[in-house]
Amino acid sequence: RRSEHKAQYHILDEASAYYQRQLKEHPSRDLAVNYLKSRGLTGKVASFFCIGFAPSGWDNLINAVGGTSEKANLLELSGMLIRHEEKDSLYDRFRNRIMFPIRDARGRTIAFGGRVLGDDKPKYLNSPETDTFHKGRELYGLYEARKLTQKLERIVIVEGYMDVISLAQFGVTYAVATLGTATSQQHLERLFKTVSEVVFCFDGDKAGRKAAERALETTLTSIKDGQEARFLFLPEGEDPDTLIRAEGKDGFEKRLNEALPLSEFFFKSHSQGSDMTSIDGRARFSSEALPMLQQMQPGLLKQMMIDKICEITGLTLEQINSTIQLVPTSAS
Ligand code: ATP
Ligand code: MN
Ligand code: MN
Ligand code: MN
Repeated sequence: RRSEHKAQYHILDEASAYYQRQLKEHPSRDLAVNYLKSRGLTGKVASFFCIGFAPSGWDNLINAVGGTSEKANLLELSGMLIRHEEKDSLYDRFRNRIMFPIRDARGRTIAFGGRVLGDDKPKYLNSPETDTFHKGRELYGLYEARKLTQKLERIVIVEGYMDVISLAQFGVTYAVATLGTATSQQHLERLFKTVSEVVFCFDGDKAGRKAAERALETTLTSIKDGQEARFLFLPEGEDPDTLIRAEGKDGFEKRLNEALPLSEFFFKSHSQGSDMTSIDGRARFSSEALPMLQQMQPGLLKQMMIDKICEITGLTLEQINSTIQLVPTSAS
């Protein structure tokens, strides 16, 4: 089993090297290079992130890397080849795409994201879940951030590959992306092992705001004292990539420094739609907020957020506790 995994890592590194080579050598490399240039990427940052090019065609990777049946089998296990059931043959999953290798904490290639060179759909294609690739655990760019930053103090969580790479190009070298999935408990655990502060910075669109709400819930239930989470909301239509191009490193970092603390986002989000000037509205707000606070890890943040509800409602902790058990009483 172990040795099988080792062979799988090895073949993915070979695939990555192959895609990188195509960006330099393939007859239609100009298509890919021009696309990357049109996105404003420098050659330097592209090669640091090992960006590559999967040419069009159905059997490029098989022919270049998967020569033997053993290797073809490994590529299939790694999600790089797809089996055509009727023909019982294999073909390349990634065709005519810009390739972003996803690396684990040790720098081994474990998967790829592939982007079309224009406006075709689907825009991004990701490797499927495999023995060696679990989307709910991995973060794109974490390995690179560790290499680029002497001492990581905070990490920015963004949505996409291009966001991570653009930010790095402009000097914000501490961004990571979830891989088209929601931020998970495991992601947070991993990040808080490295830094004490994370800033969520999703796109300024409906999907991005929804992702922030979900991240709020996940973070609220797992955050511990000594850890800090904040939320940066971007102007409508912007994402971290477009924003740092417009405002530069300083502008972006200024926004990061002013990002909304978790507790403030929480109160803002849950008081929305309630009339906080009426007791009815405050009761509604409390009945929504309290069950969520109940799920928090015990600690100072939880205490202080409960205090805040007391302040807002005018209720005492005892009164609240008689309706919903927030903190264990000394008797129990
Ligand atoms: P670009 O700037 O290259 O157009 P983006 O990162 O801004 O891409 P979004 O549409 O904002 O693209 O999506 C955010 C992220 O969600 C992508 O980077 C990608 O990881 C993931 N994603 C988007 N579309 C898909 C898709 N069709 N399938 C899988 N993942 C996707
Ligand atoms: Mn988006
Ligand atoms: Mn984008
Ligand atoms: Mn985006």
